[in-house]
Amino acid sequence: MTAKQGSFRFCGWYDGHSEVYSIHLGDIEGAENVPVRVHSSCITAHYFSSTECDCRDQLEITQDEIAKRGIGIIIVLNQQAKDNGILATLHYKSVAGEVSYSATAYQMMGYPADSRSYLSAAFILKELGVKSVELLSNSHDKRKQLQDAGIAVVDRKSVVVENRPDLVAHYNGKRDVEGHDL
Ligand SMILES: [Zn+2]
Repeated sequence: MTAKQGSFRFCGWYDGHSEVYSIHLGDIEGAENVPVRVHSSCITAHYFSSTECDCRDQLEITQDEIAKRGIGIIIVLNQQAKDNGILATLHYKSVAGEVSYSATAYQMMGYPADSRSYLSAAFILKELGVKSVELLSNSHDKRKQLQDAGIAVVDRKSVVVENRPDLVAHYNGKRDVEGHDL
């Protein structure tokens, strides 16, 4: 696949539940400290350029970083709204004036705060043959889940969008509710 950052290998997978996509660059088989982004789908940001979250920016930042380093993997999981589904996103919009952060809203509406699993990402990383990874993520939970699934995560680097005052409430929620490193 040719992107504005360069040419990537584009792969499709099926995890028994849904389709999963990945792109990668460089000689990753047997490689150590491979930069890896495990990214969840976000229809509002990726399809409609919503500015209410940082999903689109995070994906671009990590794709730029991988292109710059000449090696890396991005895995996109079909886990909309923390895997609560697109209807949870729509419900969230209905209470968005009361709470500023999605995980809190999901709980108010009876959904789990976060239903995501990274087992299929771990499977793909094993299939691609990487020895160890540097996770490009703010999430300690993502790192822990991947490690628990047998992936050697030697480092984690935060991905924070700069100069976006409109994201302050979003980031406060991620830090306070989910313990993200921002
Ligand atoms: Zn988003």
